[in-house]
Amino acid sequence: MSCSCFAHNRFNRGFGLAGSTDFSNSAQASHASTAPAVDVESITPAQLTVKKLARDTNTHERYLIKGGFLYAADTANTVIANSWILVTGDKITAIGNAQTPIPEYDRLINAEGKLVLPGLVNPHWHESFVAPNNELPDDSALETTPYARGGNIEALSAMFAFISTVGQKLTLGEGIAIARWSMWTQLRSGTTALGDLGSANTANAMGQAALDLGIRLRVSRWGSDIMIPSGAREFKRIADTQAQADDWAALMETWNDHPSGLIGGMPSVMGAFGSSDEQLIALRDIANRYQSPYATHLAPLRNEREAVQHVFGLSPIGRFDKLGLLTDRLLAVHTAYASEEEYQRLIATGVNICHSPAHYGMLGEATNSETKQIARFLKDGVPVSSSTDGGISFIGGMPEAMRAAHLGHNEANNDNTSCPPTLTLRTGTLHGAQALGWKDRIGSIEIGKQADLVLINIDDWRYRLGNHPLRTFLVAGGSQDVDTVMIAGKVLVQQGRSTQFDENELLSDYRKAVISARTRIQKT
Ligand SMILES: [Zn+2]
Repeated sequence: MSCSCFAHNRFNRGFGLAGSTDFSNSAQASHASTAPAVDVESITPAQLTVKKLARDTNTHERYLIKGGFLYAADTANTVIANSWILVTGDKITAIGNAQTPIPEYDRLINAEGKLVLPGLVNPHWHESFVAPNNELPDDSALETTPYARGGNIEALSAMFAFISTVGQKLTLGEGIAIARWSMWTQLRSGTTALGDLGSANTANAMGQAALDLGIRLRVSRWGSDIMIPSGAREFKRIADTQAQADDWAALMETWNDHPSGLIGGMPSVMGAFGSSDEQLIALRDIANRYQSPYATHLAPLRNEREAVQHVFGLSPIGRFDKLGLLTDRLLAVHTAYASEEEYQRLIATGVNICHSPAHYGMLGEATNSETKQIARFLKDGVPVSSSTDGGISFIGGMPEAMRAAHLGHNEANNDNTSCPPTLTLRTGTLHGAQALGWKDRIGSIEIGKQADLVLINIDDWRYRLGNHPLRTFLVAGGSQDVDTVMIAGKVLVQQGRSTQFDENELLSDYRKAVISARTRIQKT
């Protein structure tokens, strides 16, 4: 299911925690203790240079983005080969083609030789860049992940419980520095709106980092208060349910409907095998109070059903249904293992289905191909979204996620109409915006919507013989081809570089912060 930060149990093992599983590997643990080369004792959190980033404060100029090949990702499936877009302040105010007269403008962005897409929306992501990376550069330490072969529920629930405590161990400065670099890798690859599904960081640090970068974010807190030991008939409580609910209340109070217009809240739980009934009820209540989206991994693994049924007498989806959590504000991730009856309930209740197709092969999961249920949702018109999930380093952006959706579903279903290019684009834009409760604001290029746009270089040898540049981009392009990113009318990335800060400084702050944080976490 989620988060390669937990792949190979790297996260808690890297921190020297035994965990409750038999995945420990002394070779890797000792490898971890030999790093890092820097004198970590000399760096204190107070020395971190969490500077205020320069911001482009211009909000009144009119931009004309002219000459690009536009895919609007709207429901009418608008495509304009030689397009122009007028951006006034933070909004799209006019759209035209080569035949329509050009309106007045202040600044021109030449989009010739570029694809023009709505800002990419990544509704399911975890900020996890504090995790130690003990990966070896060859495959000599390769082992089966706890996600593979149906999933090791005991191992996963123990790991998720640990992750839910990591954010509290960071200083605010460390959290901001780590989140800035982590979010920069998303922004650089064309993501303009992120959905946090629980992170190894705090809501305050991530909210601040998103403001600093100018990226949109639904910020969360990882709810996980129980674990299910293998074969058990009772769960083990491993965290204070009320304390986690208090964190949700605090984050909603601070960040939901933030005056910047960029940030909202999205309370989340890891999944049906990580939450008590009290926690699920608390999730429902806070989401109802704020009428906000809320999120979970739902029916993501073949082995989860039996483990959950054993303890609760209900399936994972059955638990959510009974507690009134199946609504059109629920963002449900990796939902591949629903029964027929549950599948129909998910459609009838309007639950937003999301998946991370580029992530499954990395961890050894068969989420797309084993049941083919995600593709069935697509065929049935459900607005399925694509996402990257989280990792402890950059694991591909939304371009790679969309490629995997396009090629993966078509292959698994032996059908090239399973996930065609323009539908694929909507999984990476409009459908994600809907899942985040922001469909009226972002997700497509339409007059009146926020000016969140991505320009992608297509003027090279890969595109010479094709007539469908979006298809060519999906199969032969990637994150590196993103040239320009605009959010709310502000150009944040130009020619692949930040317009606001020195990328090296951001990386240097990140490195200082993780060394400082990891050292302290390992000691506790
Ligand atoms: Zn996840």
